[in-house]
Amino acid sequence: MQRRTRIRRLKRRFPSRNKNKRAGEKTIVSRDLCHHIASEVLKRKPQTAAKWIRAAILPALPKRSNWHRELRKLAVSLDAMALGKKLTCRVFGHDGNGKLPFVFFSALPQYTCPGAGECLDWCYSFTGWRHVSPFTRQVLNTMLLKHAPEYIAEEWKSLPNDIEVRLYVDGDFDSAETMEFWFDLCRARPDLHIYGYSKSWALFIEHDRNGNGFPSNYVLNLSSGSKYEGIQGYADAMEGIKREDGGYLVRGYFVAVHINGKGIPRGIKRYTVAEYHKRVREAAREEYGQTPLSCPGDCSNCPGARQQCGLDRNEPKMVLIAIGVHGGKRTKAT
Ligand code: SF4
Repeated sequence: MQRRTRIRRLKRRFPSRNKNKRAGEKTIVSRDLCHHIASEVLKRKPQTAAKWIRAAILPALPKRSNWHRELRKLAVSLDAMALGKKLTCRVFGHDGNGKLPFVFFSALPQYTCPGAGECLDWCYSFTGWRHVSPFTRQVLNTMLLKHAPEYIAEEWKSLPNDIEVRLYVDGDFDSAETMEFWFDLCRARPDLHIYGYSKSWALFIEHDRNGNGFPSNYVLNLSSGSKYEGIQGYADAMEGIKREDGGYLVRGYFVAVHINGKGIPRGIKRYTVAEYHKRVREAAREEYGQTPLSCPGDCSNCPGARQQCGLDRNEPKMVLIAIGVHGGKRTKAT
């Protein structure tokens, strides 16, 4: 079959959701196609997943596109993983501009999020799929966690000393085994300061009830949109969990509040608008009865000596941090 026909068919099957016709035509890979790739790869073992990418996806992508190049690299990494060879890419993300003062780990959103609830309507991680490298990194990391976690452990050992690590920028703890794996790594590097966000509240509570500890260098933000949010007892149980050093596990809530978007730009530009922050504070006060810190959106300039999301909580009261969302639409896995 002609390459052009293949490309046309793929685009017909997974059309862009962009309503702007010209932009839609230019879009090579739609969010639905990303879901298709993610769900098909996760069904397979690394080597068969690599074969599937080469046979089912690559022939239908323009050869010179960055999606073709990065998905080809993903297939090479999956082969390397299966054969126990060295990976040619990194597991942990580092901000190339040095602007974000942390390294981070991401996995596939939704597929690793057993606690996801209404957050799927506005999850920012899907927006990142407009770019190929965050997507392929998430696919690879999810496969590594499932089939070859030793690669992650190896790179963890070589992280620089005394840095901040954001554990799960995208994705979440998907099982008790994954949680145990990460907490063992945290304990092995007490010099690292690790923090994250989670909606997998049931896993944390079960971990606590089973008498398993939480490392002293890990701080958790409870993010809104969890399916456990409205169920009685979950939030209280989470707030009370203590770490191995006697400190609180949970720093506070990190919530998304719906705001009136009139006159407010979308994306990161909104953080520069005073009216946006005013609306966020008002919406959070109404919903949570507490004035929040409206997230400034730039972690390198977060107010205070350190990033607010990674601070330890020293008192029973939880600190609220909020971001504003307007619009958003749920996407489905294929
Ligand atoms: S509150 Fe600060 S550390 Fe947390 S996400 Fe916003 S800018 Fe980053």
